[in-house]
Amino acid sequence: MRKEANRDVVSEISDFLRKRGLEPRIVTWKDRTLLVTHRNPAPEEIAPLKENKIVERIAHPTLRAQLASREFQDSTSPVRVGSAEIGRTKLAIIAGPCSVENREQLLKAARAAKECGASLLRGGVFKPRTSPYEFQGLGEAGLRLLAQAREETGLPVITEVLEPGKVDLVAKYADMLQIGARNMQNFSLLKAVGKSKMPVLLKRGMMATIEEWLQAAEYILLEGNPDVVLCERGIRTFEKATRNTLDLAAVPVLRKTTHLPILVDPSHATGCRDFVGPMAKAAVAAGADGLMIETHPSPETALSDPHQQLTLEEFASLLRELELVAKAVGRAIR
Ligand code: PEP
Ligand code: MN
Repeated sequence: MRKEANRDVVSEISDFLRKRGLEPRIVTWKDRTLLVTHRNPAPEEIAPLKENKIVERIAHPTLRAQLASREFQDSTSPVRVGSAEIGRTKLAIIAGPCSVENREQLLKAARAAKECGASLLRGGVFKPRTSPYEFQGLGEAGLRLLAQAREETGLPVITEVLEPGKVDLVAKYADMLQIGARNMQNFSLLKAVGKSKMPVLLKRGMMATIEEWLQAAEYILLEGNPDVVLCERGIRTFEKATRNTLDLAAVPVLRKTTHLPILVDPSHATGCRDFVGPMAKAAVAAGADGLMIETHPSPETALSDPHQQLTLEEFASLLRELELVAKAVGRAIR
């Protein structure tokens, strides 16, 4: 609907659609109101709307994830997170430890991230660990450390939220909410982060198809939260040489189907420090809008994912190497 559409007009057009069995959902999308129907109507069913001046545009997305589709919006929609923007020429680099462990560890990683030109600081405080005996994260104390690191470096912070009941708490401290691979289809969590209106990084489920992933994103978008970024982090296959199999083809596939920015996480995808650099370069070459890379001042002592976190020196040298790759595909690191 056009900006001027008031409540009465919206309900009039909703009634028109409902009478045709189209079950419209009213979505507030930036400064517009959208009426999203559950099925794609035939053009003749809604012909009168074409003449209606308050209707700005009628889209017929064929993808089951309508709002995520390029048929709804044809150019990449950058997502602003504090001082950072994801989906622009400058690549968004998210760096920081797997888990926030203590003040010193986090601040060292944060300063290195800042110095190298990273855009965001990451650090898990609610950790989705496979074993209940493993380090589960510092919880709210970790959130406070993230806020301190932001204060010192100016970097916006991103951290994972595991349950709907914790969304408000995490949103109080973080600039961006992360939905982890294990929660990609936790629909009540997706709706809760949608309602929060915070920028969201949605990681691909380890057994999710690209279409399922986009439909998960759609749950967030349908709450009227347009700030969703996708992150490919590898899927589970028969191959055991790497922790997961990085599906790099997902990058161009998504580019064609969705306007949402696309990041790649070569750390969780490979599970091995030696493979992070090569796959980071490949991801940039494939057209990713940025990377999520785990970094730690002393990875060998890390309380989670010790094998895949880069030292701060390795991270700095990788970013230097990435500059050339970025340049070759019309992007920049800084
Ligand atoms: C993470 O990024 O901290 C994480 C747990 O990754 P994933 O959800 O992709 O496994
Ligand atoms: Mn990790």
